[in-house]
Amino acid sequence: QPKKYQFMLRLKMPAGDFPASMYQVLDDIATKYGNNTLRATTRCAWQVHGVLKANLKTVFSSIMNAGGSCVGACGDLSRNVMCTPAPFTNKLYSQARFVSRMLGELFAPQTGAFSEIWLDGEKAATLEFWKKDLDMDKVREIMRYDNGNGMVFNAHEEPIYGETYLPRKFKIGVTVPGDNSIDVYTQDIGLICVPDASGSVVGYNVIVGGGMGRAHRKETTFARTGDHLGYVAADKLWEAMKAIVATQRDHGNRSVRANARMKYLVDRLGIDAFRSLVETYFGEPFEPYRELKPWKYEDWLGWHEQGDGNLFLGLFIENGRIKDDGDFKLRTALRRVIDAYEFDLVVTPNQNIILKNITPDQKAGIEAILKEHSVKLATEYDTNHRLSMACPAMPLCGLAVTEAERIMPSIVERMNNLFEKHNVTMPITMRMTGCPNGCARPYMAELGFVGSAARTYQLWLGGSANQTRLAFSYMDKVKDSMFEEVLSPILTMYTAKRRENETFGDFCHRMGKPEILAYSESMNNQ
Ligand code: SF4
Repeated sequence: QPKKYQFMLRLKMPAGDFPASMYQVLDDIATKYGNNTLRATTRCAWQVHGVLKANLKTVFSSIMNAGGSCVGACGDLSRNVMCTPAPFTNKLYSQARFVSRMLGELFAPQTGAFSEIWLDGEKAATLEFWKKDLDMDKVREIMRYDNGNGMVFNAHEEPIYGETYLPRKFKIGVTVPGDNSIDVYTQDIGLICVPDASGSVVGYNVIVGGGMGRAHRKETTFARTGDHLGYVAADKLWEAMKAIVATQRDHGNRSVRANARMKYLVDRLGIDAFRSLVETYFGEPFEPYRELKPWKYEDWLGWHEQGDGNLFLGLFIENGRIKDDGDFKLRTALRRVIDAYEFDLVVTPNQNIILKNITPDQKAGIEAILKEHSVKLATEYDTNHRLSMACPAMPLCGLAVTEAERIMPSIVERMNNLFEKHNVTMPITMRMTGCPNGCARPYMAELGFVGSAARTYQLWLGGSANQTRLAFSYMDKVKDSMFEEVLSPILTMYTAKRRENETFGDFCHRMGKPEILAYSESMNNQ
């Protein structure tokens, strides 16, 4: 019996937007060629798991001919551009989505290799859906902009990436002041739309050098939160973005792949020298970063008014997996809703989905379908479940050394019981990954579990509830059966010493690792 190789496909879909018609195509693909599930990722995209090698061409071409694409979802280039997923129709949120789509296109690879391989060199039957309202001539013009010294871009068929593409993957996220649904400090470039009093966007704050991936026992690799690069006026945005990408293209580490992400360049140079280097490409100085309102983590779940008389509904998708499982028939329910109402949707940065453009009179019908299939609304989940995230890990990710998605629901359950025992009522953000690559951004969680061996994890503590502070590594090689034993003394300490309304993450950060360790040891010796 010859071996059968299976693959994962990831879609590119700037800002997480996804039309109903594409969802139907993808859902059919999951039935015919996948593992009967769809996976919402932490970068606002879909993954299809379990596609056999022999079916790849059919699947790729079906996606591309229906107006989707996988080009730029992987590889050493700009990956799917994330955006705050809330589909508000006001100027501010609309601009964030527009910028995400523009950047998705501006940094799209120009090579025809993908269609040569999967479409026999033919053009896809239809334009990708996110391009439909973009001025593509304008995008091409921006792509080829030359700052006059010939350093930045050329007329090569890859005007931005040149012949070598980037040293490593590159992640961009766009949001608006106060809305940290995208983990803005974890992006290679985090952009914040800055509005004037009327809500029109007049410029952008720029954060650079974030990134989660690291390796165990390799101190030269680390998770990092981004630094404030500065502010750029709206009409200079594209040039500024190209200048940053070109800086990483030309100065990123191409000798040591483990240190190739832009965060290592920013870290090595320091933000001031990095800014000066970018300015040699940009051709002018950045303005100082503008103070904006404080960040809040937003999941945008539940019912919300969109701003145009319509509603949107954020549905909690446990660890991003759209599936049917016994009486819980999420996948069937979603397909029924989308077939009946043809709602476009948004995949959120936290592996959930949003159905948008719902008229108020459709609300009851949707809720009835969900209920009939035992799908709960977000308000019926406890907050810690809503906040939790795990990556796919075993058996679907080749890099996984242990479980994440499959055991996370039971871990949250166990932790909730433990919290209750310690009278901890404030929510705690928990995230888990099957390896240190950090796809579910565990290093930003208040309590992070990072896989290091079979059913064994490194524990991270001290991230902030609004996802702006890096956690610290607290303990290596903790078997999952030991979580309660290791965490109990810390929770006892938290209950005894916390300040009023102090979150678990803030408390751990304030105490620090040595003090928590010492307290735990003293408790264990009692
Ligand atoms: Fe990412 Fe590692 Fe999880 Fe795989 S196991 S999805 S590489 S974090």
